[in-house]
Amino acid sequence: MDRQIIVTGGAGYIGSHTVIELLKEGYEPIIIDDFRNSKPFILDRITEISGETPIHYSVDCTDEEAMMAIFEKHPNLLGIIHFAADKAVGESVTNPLKYYQNNVGSMAVVLKGMAKYNLEHLVFSSSCTVYGEPDQAEVTEDSPVREANSPYGHTKIICEKMIRDVFASGAAIKGTLLRYFNPIGAHPSARLGELPQGIPNNLVPYITQTAKGIREQLTVFGDDYDTPDGTNIRDYIHVVDLARAHVLALNWSLNQSQTFYEAFNLGTGKGSSVLEIINTFEKVNQLKLNYQIGERRAGDVVQIYANGNKAKEVLGWECEYDISAALKHSWEWEKGLE
Ligand code: UDP
Repeated sequence: MDRQIIVTGGAGYIGSHTVIELLKEGYEPIIIDDFRNSKPFILDRITEISGETPIHYSVDCTDEEAMMAIFEKHPNLLGIIHFAADKAVGESVTNPLKYYQNNVGSMAVVLKGMAKYNLEHLVFSSSCTVYGEPDQAEVTEDSPVREANSPYGHTKIICEKMIRDVFASGAAIKGTLLRYFNPIGAHPSARLGELPQGIPNNLVPYITQTAKGIREQLTVFGDDYDTPDGTNIRDYIHVVDLARAHVLALNWSLNQSQTFYEAFNLGTGKGSSVLEIINTFEKVNQLKLNYQIGERRAGDVVQIYANGNKAKEVLGWECEYDISAALKHSWEWEKGLE
């Protein structure tokens, strides 16, 4: 009973993989997810892979009353891993208030609930978007937090500050911010992965949908950047490695005697260009992708990758998968989708 941890967004892409890793380590995840960006069958897949069926609540995380009722019902909670958020960068530009309301609103409810029910441990899904356009491509946790390139990014910066301010107020909170680079890949069983809604915004789901014939052609957003092959550079990280980092972060948090507020970069430490991703996808899956070079996309950062030393040294986190494995797993998952 004392291994119970709330996982908001636990049916989502990173959340569901984290639930699997938590179960493996003997934690008892309690999922709060209203399926706005997932599907109920993901819970069945969690059961299929793990042999366990976590408790699940279909609740909107901005619904304070419903959220408090859940915390009330589970008196032995360790804390919260807070994934639930809207994440479509483009949509956040056209509908910013949706992002402020959901992402900032749910963060406020989570922090209120933690204070009310004396929950100490918080692991928050942040993003490398908080570094904006960095001076150097390799960023450490001490690189300056910059103006983000979208309302989505702003909500991540605001949520980080909310946690910091609650910590600074003297609250008994142990706050871990995990700054994700670009999550890709799927569970090696091909039974769990990303479910993009509508036309994907992100590169890899766009690639897999193009390979499958759902999209006609992939457009590479610009090849005239100041990078070796002219396309943007990102740090693509396998979702299972990312999920494992959450378990390590929670383990580490449980071992701390003092309250804290700590950020960790979660990336491989290696940058890959858009063309490298396309070429690797074609190579590992032995197919040809229909793509063209197009215009730059507004707001794209030229290049960024993680300095991941802190997560390695403090949490003992090492990546198990490279982009080849991740792109293979993404394709296996896509092929299995109806
Ligand atoms: N990208 C692209 N075509 C697409 C989608 C993305 O060329 O259809 C590029 C995009 O310009 C960026 C990289 O792929 O350089 C990663 O984009 P994504 O949206 O996946 O992540 P983010 O921009 O948040 O790093």
